[in-house]
Amino acid sequence: MPIDATLPYDDQNIFAKILRGEIPNRTVYEDEWSLAFHDINPQAPTHILIIPKGAYVSWDDFSANASDAEIAGFTRAVGHVAREMGLVEPGYRLLANVGIDAHQEVPHLHVHLFGGKALGPMLAR
Ligand code: AMP
Repeated sequence: MPIDATLPYDDQNIFAKILRGEIPNRTVYEDEWSLAFHDINPQAPTHILIIPKGAYVSWDDFSANASDAEIAGFTRAVGHVAREMGLVEPGYRLLANVGIDAHQEVPHLHVHLFGGKALGPMLAR
């Protein structure tokens, strides 16, 4: 079910549980600000989710309310993961779903990183 991105943060969401170590994940990178792990249902040969460690519902919440240090740390982590995975030269796609029309399902900000094949047009019709 898509979520309403204007709702308050729910600390029982699945990514909050991953951050607390309550459920497992396949981590590819972690630093002070961010965690990156494999999507459980990959939509491309490489499909990584990068999440901030802070409690932000969506890109909207994060861009409005996160500190400059959190925003810088998270942005650098996204670029770092793509670089470390060798995706810069072949190319990759970033995607962040926000709210109902975008079909955001997990109410903790996550950036999808897709790569490993030619990804085609931006949106399915
Ligand atoms: P979104 O529709 O943008 O909210 O995407 C949520 C993503 O989280 C989907 O691609 C799911 O496959 C992924 N996902 C859900 N639960 C887990 C989990 N436990 N570990 C890794 N990825 C997950």
